[in-house]
Amino acid sequence: MKNIVILGSTGSIGKSALEVIKNFPHKFRVLGLAAKSSINTLERQIKEFHPSYVAVYDEKAYEELKSRVKNCEILYGLEGIHKLATLPQADIILSAIVGAAGLLPTYEAVKAGKTIGLANKESLVLAGELIKKEAKRSNAKIIPVDSEHSAVFQCINGCNKPYIRKIWLTASGGPFRGRKKHEIENVTPQEALNHPKWKMGKRITIDSATLMNKGFEVIEAHYLFDIPVDQIGVLIHPQSIVHCLVEFIDGTYLAQMSEPDMKAPIALALSLPERLPNVVKPIDWTVTTKLQFELPDTGVFPCLHLAYEAIKIGGTMPAVLNASDEVAVEAFLSGKLKFNDIYKIIKKVMDAHSAYSANSIEEILKADSWARKRAKKEIEG
Ligand code: MG
Repeated sequence: MKNIVILGSTGSIGKSALEVIKNFPHKFRVLGLAAKSSINTLERQIKEFHPSYVAVYDEKAYEELKSRVKNCEILYGLEGIHKLATLPQADIILSAIVGAAGLLPTYEAVKAGKTIGLANKESLVLAGELIKKEAKRSNAKIIPVDSEHSAVFQCINGCNKPYIRKIWLTASGGPFRGRKKHEIENVTPQEALNHPKWKMGKRITIDSATLMNKGFEVIEAHYLFDIPVDQIGVLIHPQSIVHCLVEFIDGTYLAQMSEPDMKAPIALALSLPERLPNVVKPIDWTVTTKLQFELPDTGVFPCLHLAYEAIKIGGTMPAVLNASDEVAVEAFLSGKLKFNDIYKIIKKVMDAHSAYSANSIEEILKADSWARKRAKKEIEG
């Protein structure tokens, strides 16, 4: 029986994880749940899964939940979330808080030497160097939950790194694949949120439409697998059946396939070294009759370039990339920014930033908050 803590239990990944756990009650026990403010969902989860600990980030939400729920320990704020991230009884910490907010709790779990199912890619985008250094010291284990990275993890299992020539991360291409630049100038948030294959949170869905998500994933893969970014490529694969391709020096490839369902990588991260039965539907080969691959059109989706640029500059630049993207995506969702301007804002903020190498999470968060302010200023004109 494994004790599971879910940081970000009311988000898309958190809910999928609880679905997996519900189906295997003899394998997993929910030890802790943490959320920002969605206490109605959290209250339902508490009733169903009986966690010993719950943490709520938002103060009002915390007070409200405390008045409603009596039979478990409810903790408040970042401190409460950090307590959950480092619980000695926890076998796995699922880090599934959205955005840069997931960095500190993930870092705490790493410092405590925990086994972490990492869905929060921002942790590595912002602080890959520091997290890796700390994980080495503390013996923390990071298991990727991002579908592409879970796929790579499976394909390179036991393979000597010198034999790997290239890692290809696949991308569905999002709702605007195949369009010209002027054809996406006036798309609405609703159109951009209409992802053809994956059901995900809002921010990551917009990041998928701009291909920025894939850019973050390139950075994430660089840190997870210790592979130079030049050896990480992106392939558009509209069917979203193949989640990665690993190209070896002999010219052969391994691919990992499944229906696009986050339950697959989540279940694997929770159950390793075992595999659980019937987690997702097998591929229906009467429906999936072809698998297509093409290189991305970075003229139309230039955000991908920005991510490569940011990681090559290094230091605080990837944090600035992420922070300005979070702000720009938010502005797009609230109708303040056009789709193609997401790129322009991020580019302007990156151009205005002199990257420096950060020796602490605090220094990274300083660059993060500088970039947020700068992005808001650029958006307001
Ligand atoms: Mg992914």
